[in-house]
Amino acid sequence: MTIFNGHCHCGAVEWQVDLPQDAQSHILCHCDACKLQSGGEYTLNQLAPKDAFKLTKGDLKVYTYKGDSGNPVDCFFCANCTSAPYHHQHILGDKIVVRTGLLDGSKSWSQPVLEIFGKDKLSWQPQTAKDIVPGPPGS
Ligand SMILES: [Zn+2]
Ligand SMILES: [Zn+2]
Repeated sequence: MTIFNGHCHCGAVEWQVDLPQDAQSHILCHCDACKLQSGGEYTLNQLAPKDAFKLTKGDLKVYTYKGDSGNPVDCFFCANCTSAPYHHQHILGDKIVVRTGLLDGSKSWSQPVLEIFGKDKLSWQPQTAKDIVPGPPGS
């Protein structure tokens, strides 16, 4: 396990997350929810145990929506600048989806291991991971 630090755009919120050392690589998500929330073409993510995430400064607000599976998804974000360090898909139980692109040092990480929700990928966007699946992991 390796501890990574992250902070939101305005600096009001800071956090630490303990990620498995052998899994620093991102999973790239092309889904439409990620597009609408980020304003970009995809997000970079990694699954982690809920207790691996610790807020070290400030507070997060919660926005809940219905995920692709029909189950609720809680999106935790800075109320001031909207950076969202993690999501909790209820279907994943005690696991959370950490936005790894918001972690310090992620620029030097290796390419994503997997792309998910490829069905929503913009036509001009090249595939960068070895594997791509049309929907959620395992689809
Ligand atoms: Zn902020
Ligand atoms: Zn997504």
